[in-house]
Amino acid sequence: MPTKQGSIHLFRLFGIDVYLHWAWFFAVWYFVYGARGYTSTTWSVLECLALFAIVLIHEFGHQLACRSVGGKTHDIILWPLGGVAYVSPPQRPGAQLWSIAAGPLVNVALFPIFTAVLLLARSAGWEDTMPDAYFFVLTLWYINTVLLLFNMLPIYPLDGGQILRSLLWFAFGRARSLMIATVIGLVGIVAFIPIIIMANQMWYYLLAGFAVLNCWSGLMQARALARVANAPRRGGYSCPNCKTAPPLGAFWVCGKCRKPFDIFATQGLCPNCNAQYTATSCPECGTLRPFNEWMTSTDVPPHL
Ligand SMILES: [Zn+2]
Ligand SMILES: [Zn+2]
Ligand SMILES: [Zn+2]
Repeated sequence: MPTKQGSIHLFRLFGIDVYLHWAWFFAVWYFVYGARGYTSTTWSVLECLALFAIVLIHEFGHQLACRSVGGKTHDIILWPLGGVAYVSPPQRPGAQLWSIAAGPLVNVALFPIFTAVLLLARSAGWEDTMPDAYFFVLTLWYINTVLLLFNMLPIYPLDGGQILRSLLWFAFGRARSLMIATVIGLVGIVAFIPIIIMANQMWYYLLAGFAVLNCWSGLMQARALARVANAPRRGGYSCPNCKTAPPLGAFWVCGKCRKPFDIFATQGLCPNCNAQYTATSCPECGTLRPFNEWMTSTDVPPHL
């Protein structure tokens, strides 16, 4: 995944910082020199900026929707494959669904606008009088539509795959829904292999490789979630946020020595390196709270 290192800070909007990953310059180069149909490169540059803007408002759609359901917003790091997996909504299927769906909904909202502009340009005869402007308008319509359709493929981690996962979550729970969605994703990528080989474009190989990596890490995450979900529960404690009792077992990783341990068994002391923690995060919902907030009332001695 791209990080802020090697990225340029562009601006801050709605409290969200926008960064441009260096790989974008390759995309610009690819677009500007690979673009056909314009009489001057200025139009290719404009097209590249327009693509950038479409991707950016798509990402803002995700982040603002995530914030609207009480989730944490992330910086937007734009790189040629978009901004996949940078939302962390509350761990509820509805919140997840809205945060993911808001991105493609931006493209859905743009569709009638681009269509209207294209129809106006056509009826105004731009095709003959201003061929560059006409081709630009046509290309924008095409980019938005292709991005939308492609993104809605039910292949994890594309938005379509993550929407599928959120819907499955309602029926199968957090761990199994992720497992099913990532397996469908891997099968989907395999089904696309003939097309990828026929197209023989670096772009497709990169995207497929990226999708495989994400499916794989999603599958590993699903297995970890399933282990947490199936673990017996410790009495006397519950998450201050989601009210789930903590699982019994080594489900916490020490920040110092990276060894897993059961943080509730030792009251926050890592048995390996003796690091002491006063707060812990919930394996179910991710909330970080001090230990005393985790203790349930049954643990408090009765009042005299
Ligand atoms: Zn998206
Ligand atoms: Zn919790
Ligand atoms: Zn440790």
